[in-house]
Amino acid sequence: MQAEGSVWVPERGTAQAVALEVLRHGPLARSDIARRLGLSPGSLTRLAAPLIESGLLVEVGERAQPGAGRPSRLLDVRADSRHFIGMKLTATGVAGVVTDLRASVVAEAGIALDSARPDRVVDRIGELVRSFVDLGYEPTMLGIGVGGLVGSGGVVLSAPFLGWEQVPLGPLVQQATGVRTIVDNDLVAVTECENWFGTASGVDRFAVVTLGAGVGYGLVVHGRTVVNEDSGIGLVGHWPLDPLGPLCPAGHRGCAHALLTDTGIAGEVSSALGRTVTFDEALDAAQADDPAARRVVTDAGRGLGRLLAAVANLTVPQLIVIGGEGSRLAVVAEAAVQEGFHADRDPRAHDVPLTMMSGGGLDWCRGAAVLAIQEFAQGA
Ligand SMILES: [Zn+2]
Repeated sequence: MQAEGSVWVPERGTAQAVALEVLRHGPLARSDIARRLGLSPGSLTRLAAPLIESGLLVEVGERAQPGAGRPSRLLDVRADSRHFIGMKLTATGVAGVVTDLRASVVAEAGIALDSARPDRVVDRIGELVRSFVDLGYEPTMLGIGVGGLVGSGGVVLSAPFLGWEQVPLGPLVQQATGVRTIVDNDLVAVTECENWFGTASGVDRFAVVTLGAGVGYGLVVHGRTVVNEDSGIGLVGHWPLDPLGPLCPAGHRGCAHALLTDTGIAGEVSSALGRTVTFDEALDAAQADDPAARRVVTDAGRGLGRLLAAVANLTVPQLIVIGGEGSRLAVVAEAAVQEGFHADRDPRAHDVPLTMMSGGGLDWCRGAAVLAIQEFAQGA
């Protein structure tokens, strides 16, 4: 039986690398695992045996080998053997999901915040955890994504949208819920989710651009998310895109925030139409060919294309993934996005595929769950 502790693989090293490879990319043929990790078939057999015996890996059939070789047996993890909770904190509520070991969502729920006071927020998080436990899920770990600067030990150093500074959110939640908790920046979380389980999984260099209340940018190089102590400030959020564009609250003309955020687009379309509309209503009006809404959304799409071109030119990704609750902009304004993108790319440059995150609106919560999954699977 699998040990019921807080550690997945009891020791670091090559056995853990085998388990992680199968977790991220399985089911995998034994021959593929050996090749990916540069192991001899004998070494793999020796390393895999205790992992299979403990129930951590399972054999799930065979795959025919090219040529006349014996079929190679497939190894996989039992994805439903563990459950994780991922939560996203916003100014107005907490959204949460329960996922399996591969970040597939099996339950979701949300709870409103009546106050941003840390103790009240921790109470709401505790209620959400209990609601999942009442459904029968036993969380191995809890991950929380916050739009702000997060230091070591789960301390939120600054989260302007909540008015927080130096809030030890991780320890407070862990104490209140009894569930091991990890807290990190939300953009880092969605980037890690793409890296481990998304469409970009296995791609050497890729970028993530998120749209919504803000504009986020994440980068993975050689399989690792590029982070430093400033990750969480949102340094690309005010990237200049349109010298004639609208003003952002910080006073920049035509920056990414002014042009691409939910509130920016809703505000521009509202003033053009002379009535208040939401972000989705603004996009609906553009899709219905309302000329004023169409102009705002086309300008935003072109601006998004220019931002993606800057990302492609400066950080040479093989793929750019677009996500976040405002990513519908990239779909509605697709032609303008392509126009803006190609206007700022050299015609000789290779095309960089643009893809959409697959989270179905749950990108942020899945990302937070992946923080927990990574901590669990890589810890020892
Ligand atoms: Zn700005």
